[in-house]
Amino acid sequence: MTPGKLSVLAGRHPLIVGTLGSLMALGVLAISLITLRASREAAIEHAHETSRNVTAVLVSNIARTIETSNNSLLALISALDKPEVQNMDSDLRHELLFDRTAAKYVTGMGVTDDRGHLIDGCCSSTHKWDFSDRDYFTVHRDSPNVGLYVSSVYRARSRPGAQSIAITRRINRPDGSFAGVAIVAIDVEYFTQLLTQLNVGPRGISAIVRTDGTLMARNPPSRRAALVNVGRSPVFPRMVNHDSGFYAAKSISDGVLRLYTFQRIPGTPLIAVVAPAQSDVLAAWKHLSWVVGIAASSVSLAFCAAVWLLAFALQEQAKVQARLTELTQTDALTGLKNRRALDEVLDNEWNRLQRNDGCLSLLFVDADNFKKYNDSHGHAHGDLALRHLAVCINRHVHRPGDVSARYGGEEFVVVLPDTDEKGAAKVAEAIRREVEHDRATVGSATIAPFTVSIGCATGRRSRPSSLDELTELADQALYAAKRSGRNAVVAADSADIDTEIRS
Ligand code: GH3
Ligand code: MG
Ligand code: MG
Repeated sequence: MTPGKLSVLAGRHPLIVGTLGSLMALGVLAISLITLRASREAAIEHAHETSRNVTAVLVSNIARTIETSNNSLLALISALDKPEVQNMDSDLRHELLFDRTAAKYVTGMGVTDDRGHLIDGCCSSTHKWDFSDRDYFTVHRDSPNVGLYVSSVYRARSRPGAQSIAITRRINRPDGSFAGVAIVAIDVEYFTQLLTQLNVGPRGISAIVRTDGTLMARNPPSRRAALVNVGRSPVFPRMVNHDSGFYAAKSISDGVLRLYTFQRIPGTPLIAVVAPAQSDVLAAWKHLSWVVGIAASSVSLAFCAAVWLLAFALQEQAKVQARLTELTQTDALTGLKNRRALDEVLDNEWNRLQRNDGCLSLLFVDADNFKKYNDSHGHAHGDLALRHLAVCINRHVHRPGDVSARYGGEEFVVVLPDTDEKGAAKVAEAIRREVEHDRATVGSATIAPFTVSIGCATGRRSRPSSLDELTELADQALYAAKRSGRNAVVAADSADIDTEIRS
């Protein structure tokens, strides 16, 4: 299809063009939304990946610390068992047993007797503290098979205000009965320090939680850190029951939606948690969404408006074009088709006739003595008479496909497709009689009487052999009608051209 035809088609159907344009604009918007949705999921996935890596580093650090503490405890217990150590000078023994605990985070190391009294230790005053109320003491006293125990957070007695946890093991007598507890105390500050090294975004948190729900350390620090129990959170059981995981939840303390990644520190009741705020994770994405959203909406809206404007402009243009075409094909005086349009109709009908078994009739209508008529009534009145003649012709030419045209001057042609000789003669006679008897008035003036002569010719496929011959036959019939005295209808007949029909 050529661009010209396309624009005509678009002009005829502006609603379709506008709707198609709008659908395309909606398509652009939909694609933008789908892309944004996908990039949001990618941002969350990326945050999860990062959190997983950060959590793994945190877990490995803490696990190493616990492992080191465990090794120290095992070495201490095994040394205590040796008779040569037991018989040693107390200062020398103290140095041997507790010298290896120089690690920065270890705030104390010691051994209690079976009543919980500290009997030897380092890194704190030599006061004979009573630890029988500590959870690690009762746990080891009541159960011989606990192995390594990580205590809950407690306030250190030797360092007022400081919080610690204890990594402990049970000491057995040779008969297996409870002899006391070996303790490595670690400052909670050590865990807080580890957490502050992690970047979890402006509103994110990192934490180390015990499986009983107590919060051991948190960054940013919470005023109630050691006292807060996160076990109330509806998602906490998920943390306790899985080694690791990822979920999004609103914090019960500040209501911020965070993306939690957690991992259990192996062999301990501790869980490392890294939770950036979803709003931080999606901040860049949100900014991009605004930019893309506004740009895509503006472009779609502008595109839509342009398409609708264009569609209506094309419709206007198509209307003007149609009107112009109509004007170039219309006779200004009578409103009938003009000679150019008639030629087109004749060509089409003749070609159609060559493909069918039908017939095609032509009427040549000519006003009689019209020169004299003009002379008598004036040219302007003659014009009115010609318009009246056009009306009379149209009254009898109304079947679909019938065409009446002004051939020129006071001559008219009627094209009657699928009309045989008899039908053509009937129409011609009706026109002739109507012109003769109808006394029409235009305004206050009555059209002065006049008559017409009509020549008819009917063609069939290949008979006559050309359109020119058919028009020639109609012209000859008209000539015969004039010769017969005018105000007459004459049908051309290839056998007898002078056949005259008169009512
Ligand atoms: P005939 O019966 O043999 O056709 O005689 P006629 O006088 O009609 O034929 P002729 O060809 O001699 O003259 C045609 C006249 O028709 C000449 C012209 O004045 C008139 N005529 C042609 N066109 C118009 C027109 O548009 N308006 C008016 N008023 N008269 C026209
Ligand atoms: Mg005439
Ligand atoms: Mg004439």
